Amino acid sequence: ATLATDMYPRKILEYMEGFLISKTVFTSCELGVFDVLLAAERPLSAEEISQVVGASLDGMQRLLAACTGLQLLKTHQDQGQVFYSNTEQSRVFLTRSSPLSLYQSIQYSSRTIYLCWHYLTDAVREGRNQYEKAFGVSSKDLFEALYRSDEEMVKFMHLMNSIWNICGKDVVTAFDLTPFKVICDLGGCSGALAKQCTLAYPECSVTLFDLPKVVRVSREHFVSEANQRISFQEGDFFKDSLPVADLYFLARILHDWTDERCIELLCRIYKACKPGGAVLLVESLLNEDGSGPLTAQLYSLNMLVQTEGRERTGAQYAALLAASGFTNIQQRLTGKIYDAVMGHKEKSNKDK
Ligand code: SAM
Repeated sequence: ATLATDMYPRKILEYMEGFLISKTVFTSCELGVFDVLLAAERPLSAEEISQVVGASLDGMQRLLAACTGLQLLKTHQDQGQVFYSNTEQSRVFLTRSSPLSLYQSIQYSSRTIYLCWHYLTDAVREGRNQYEKAFGVSSKDLFEALYRSDEEMVKFMHLMNSIWNICGKDVVTAFDLTPFKVICDLGGCSGALAKQCTLAYPECSVTLFDLPKVVRVSREHFVSEANQRISFQEGDFFKDSLPVADLYFLARILHDWTDERCIELLCRIYKACKPGGAVLLVESLLNEDGSGPLTAQLYSLNMLVQTEGRERTGAQYAALLAASGFTNIQQRLTGKIYDAVMGHKEKSNKDK
């Protein structure tokens, strides 16, 4: 029987080979193709690029052709020779030195996440993360596994850092945070969201709270000393006392943990929070019926492979907040990857 045209499995073929695209992008970044083109300040031939990066001409020609097909490079012909240059998007997001670079995230995807996803089938069968198989480290303590070396920790911090240059402003302005002057970013990592917050709200100050070794690296390599509105506190948010604040950020924290652990943490925050204060969850929200968005659905699988948590719906986060004492819970979708959910601690009766 002939294949009806409407039976052509276009999507399935695309999905089957989706990883070829990911790997093409990873390799082009790793070899520095986009950086070489940026530095040259003129279009280059495959021969020139292959020489600078130290790659075979044949291999490079095929890689450049694939990047052109992916619309990550532009070409023009001159006297029968093909010359390549960056597209606007590649220059802004794929070169290492760009302020909006995703280079470090791509490295992390290539070197860590991709390897974990090799064991997705096992993760789904077993219902748990795959650090032991992927990296030979125990996953008993999640962040000990994630930070299995200082180098891995710094790479993870770069991964966390880059997206807030792109989506951070939408997240911190999803709600009007003007009333909150003293803010604590719990698990604030490299301080990228804290920086976006100080930019959007000139009167606030932010304490970045994280594990001691993360805070040290953040202080030395990510947050400039000149930024006097960001201060630091080292600690374990499950064990140590939390700073008193008007507002707590929990950005991409709850998605790492089980419901029980989330409530444990939220209850600790509720206790530390000033009356009239609030907590702001920043997460990739699933639709209430689970029907999407695809990014959040895939992230939830990633959480299975890499963490103890999951992505949740707004109602699921609201339930965790309510179980920890927070009221007047609201959510805002940003239309980008990350959304915001806010819960309040009521003013005590004598303040009313
Ligand atoms: N909030 C940051 C962001 O969105 O870019 C980082 C999110 S990252 C997924 C989780 C953060 O929580 C890491 O910076 C990690 O070091 C921190 N963290 C994990 N366990 C912690 C603990 N017990 N106490 C304090 N921080 C912790």
